[in-house]
Amino acid sequence: MSETLTIALSKGRIFKDTLPLLAAAGIVPVDDPETSRKLILDTNDPTIKLVIIRATDVPTYVRYGAADLGVAGKDVLMENGGEGIYEPLDLRIARCRLMVAGLPGGYEGTRRLRVATKFVNAAHAHFAAQGRQVEVIKLYGSMELAPLVGLADCIVDLVDTGNTLRANGLVPWESIADISSRLIVNKASMKMKHRRVQRIVEQLQRAVEEA
Ligand code: AMP
Repeated sequence: MSETLTIALSKGRIFKDTLPLLAAAGIVPVDDPETSRKLILDTNDPTIKLVIIRATDVPTYVRYGAADLGVAGKDVLMENGGEGIYEPLDLRIARCRLMVAGLPGGYEGTRRLRVATKFVNAAHAHFAAQGRQVEVIKLYGSMELAPLVGLADCIVDLVDTGNTLRANGLVPWESIADISSRLIVNKASMKMKHRRVQRIVEQLQRAVEEA
């Protein structure tokens, strides 16, 4: 019997969009994470398990080898560091953009800009590259509220349809990066379980190209 492979996924959008790609690679979960409380899901292949964790924890599990593979948003990799792991494949799912947004008018005046975001590192890097002085205020959600109540001049957040911005009277100021989910692989697993990992990477790649 071959060694176990563990794949780390987060619930919601990433899980839903990754399922058809995994199915194309012959991997089908036995339980539904939206209804099950299990954190480790069996699949049709007794040697492949899925662990269901918070999106921001996926790179950590993969970096430490608690999972051999994982699916993580580029936003998470940019923010929490993609160091120490391989990122062999863009799965082209959960696509959106990391944007600066605020009230209509854009960057006005010269005073130090206040930016509300949960993407503190990405925001710092973006504005530093522009040579712009900013104060970054860390929030954990509902970023769109911050400019409306004077907490910040603008936000850095993920934008998909733009509906959330529009509903709150905000407009995009500029795009920072195109975001999509990436397959990530533990470095030791890539060596020690190379044949199996490589096979999954290739099957997923084919599924992505055919999607
Ligand atoms: P939208 O109204 O379609 O522009 O979606 C914006 C809201 O959905 C924001 O609160 C985002 O944080 C969230 N969002 C959009 N796309 C993604 C994604 N690919 N991954 C995670 N969150 C997202």
